[in-house]
Amino acid sequence: MDLTARLTAEIDARRDDLIALTRDLIRIPTLNPPGKCYRDICEFLDARLSASGFTTELLRATGTPGDSDRYPRWNIVARRAGAAPGDCVHFNSHTDVVAVGEGWTVDPFGGEIQQGRIYGRGACDMKGGLATSIVAAEAFLAVCPDFGGAIEISGTADEETGGYGGVAWLSEKGYFSPEKVQHVIIPEPLNKDRICLGHRGVWWAEIETHGRIAHGSMPFLGDSAIRHMGAVLEEIERYLYPLLASKRTEMPVVPEGARQSTMNINSIHGGAPEPEADFTGFPAACVADRCRIVIDRRFLIEEDLAEVKAEIAGMLERIRAERPGFTYEIRDLWDVTPTMTEREAPVVTTVAGAIETVLARQADYVVSPGTYDQKHIDRIGRLKNCIAYGPGILDLAHQPDEWVGVDDMVDSAKVMALTLAELLAT
Ligand SMILES: [Zn+2]
Repeated sequence: MDLTARLTAEIDARRDDLIALTRDLIRIPTLNPPGKCYRDICEFLDARLSASGFTTELLRATGTPGDSDRYPRWNIVARRAGAAPGDCVHFNSHTDVVAVGEGWTVDPFGGEIQQGRIYGRGACDMKGGLATSIVAAEAFLAVCPDFGGAIEISGTADEETGGYGGVAWLSEKGYFSPEKVQHVIIPEPLNKDRICLGHRGVWWAEIETHGRIAHGSMPFLGDSAIRHMGAVLEEIERYLYPLLASKRTEMPVVPEGARQSTMNINSIHGGAPEPEADFTGFPAACVADRCRIVIDRRFLIEEDLAEVKAEIAGMLERIRAERPGFTYEIRDLWDVTPTMTEREAPVVTTVAGAIETVLARQADYVVSPGTYDQKHIDRIGRLKNCIAYGPGILDLAHQPDEWVGVDDMVDSAKVMALTLAELLAT
């Protein structure tokens, strides 16, 4: 048997193990926020990977956002060095899952299996991908014990809340540097035949309009911050949205609707605060003296952040010039620059070749509308040879009755094992 046939047979033989591992991971309820059970899942992965010959480190990102003695941010980095020098291939998965939400028909932490699908919160995003990378690495080690280089597998905290207690922290500590790691695969659920090269950029900001409080029966004695914000919203509709729709990207973003600049108005608050849920009285009659919106602007690799900010600033200045009494403030909250790995990068061409071998079709190249941990590996780690590739359907992420298909995981494990063989087999 040739190497490809031996690796695929080895993965097929481990199908039940892959199912069991995925179910075990789903049963550890690593909800974030607040960031539960990180230590538990790291200890579980430690036992598994130590038994497979990996050297492991459990690392707490002390002092990062959300870290506390009650909810410590634990990460695991496992490394298995080969018999000869060579490249290091690193599989990075986040271990956290988002809130369960309403609408489930199965136990979200039961790991139930029905008709070839494993259900649970985090099944596709991304415990299925984590399990797939582990089984792929173990199968490769069984077939190619004398490989060169190293394999690393990490399970990291907080991706769903920005990754600051996970990949960002590890990148700052040097775990993702081009000297240490040469190829990174993040098994996010992008589908088994798609390679995700990167993501669009993000800018979050808060805009506040100012007014003057007065009695609600005599609004003419005050100045309504909500009416001023109305003027901002009108200008966003009239001017900004058509402008954003006109900006198209060469990035292969999926879904198609995200192939342009977009902006979501995340929240609006103004005037009297929301009453407590059990409050039964009436609001006080006041003119709103402040109104705030939070905007979530997603931008393209063809745009730059300064220009994105200048569009909004220019729009607000125009309103100020035309509208009596209009004053405002704008505050930056967060930004991430877009990133896109080149199609000629070694990890991209290798995974594309493995997809062709396993699935007998060409790989699709995509870019994610939202960011994920690649941002930290790129910006802090300065490691460009990085993609997201893993089993599962992205649309199911964060939904009720989230699931991952067993056949998809098996196929993806074959792609990952072949990728290891291409990059590391001697
Ligand atoms: Zn994810």
